[in-house]
Amino acid sequence: MTQIADNIAAVRERMAAAARRKGSDPNSVALMAVCKTQPVDAVRAAYEAGQRLFGENRVKEFQGKSAQVRDFASGNGGASFHLIGHLQSNKTNLAAELFDAIDSVDSLHVLERMNLAAQRLGKVIPVLLEINIGGEAQKAGLSPECTALNEILLAAPKLTGVQIRGLMTVPPYIGDPEMVRPYFRSLRELRDKIAGRRLSAVEMDELSMGMSHDFEVAIEEGSTCVRVGTAIFGARNYT
Ligand SMILES: *Cc1c(COP(=O)(O)O)cnc(C)c1O
Repeated sequence: MTQIADNIAAVRERMAAAARRKGSDPNSVALMAVCKTQPVDAVRAAYEAGQRLFGENRVKEFQGKSAQVRDFASGNGGASFHLIGHLQSNKTNLAAELFDAIDSVDSLHVLERMNLAAQRLGKVIPVLLEINIGGEAQKAGLSPECTALNEILLAAPKLTGVQIRGLMTVPPYIGDPEMVRPYFRSLRELRDKIAGRRLSAVEMDELSMGMSHDFEVAIEEGSTCVRVGTAIFGARNYT
């Protein structure tokens, strides 16, 4: 478990170096530890190493861990847990109860349901819109060109239970991170374009992009939050 603390320190150093290459403040990029499939003890080790932002992929998996992790990671200086995996509309109530933010909203339907769930709980839930930047058929996310994205942006003022904070993407998996750079760049350009419209109730401050094998390139292209699993916790065991 001390390995986890060492890994976090090493990732943070690499993040800082990438931020310096870009000429930006190393503290301007958040590190999200992606703890899907990881046991509660691994989450605790990361928390004890100072990690406060976590990502989970599945609502049901986090439901199983949440009582335990909230026990040591809540209150003052507590941790935030974001959903970063695909959200089905029948799980929006549960997701609104369990998570601090939803970083993977990919339809108006899900956003509207999340809005109602948040209002019932008396919360305002921060959300990111997930963009399928590579246009991959098998992947979740809104197409950058689609009318659905525009509909969501225009609906924002009515949806007071949710706050749109920016964009998130999982680009095509390519071993060489340099080849992923154009995808990160186009997400940033999309963000800038949307921000330039100055739409009511739409914030575009966050750009969640970059994973274990490509987070440095993502930071160079303007990421504000990298989502790192394997480089912190080691390989995942799905069995
Ligand atoms: C699993 C996952 C990650 C982390 O992936 P690693 O390659 O292990 O760093 C990041 N984002 C999402 C959406 C994921 O599902």
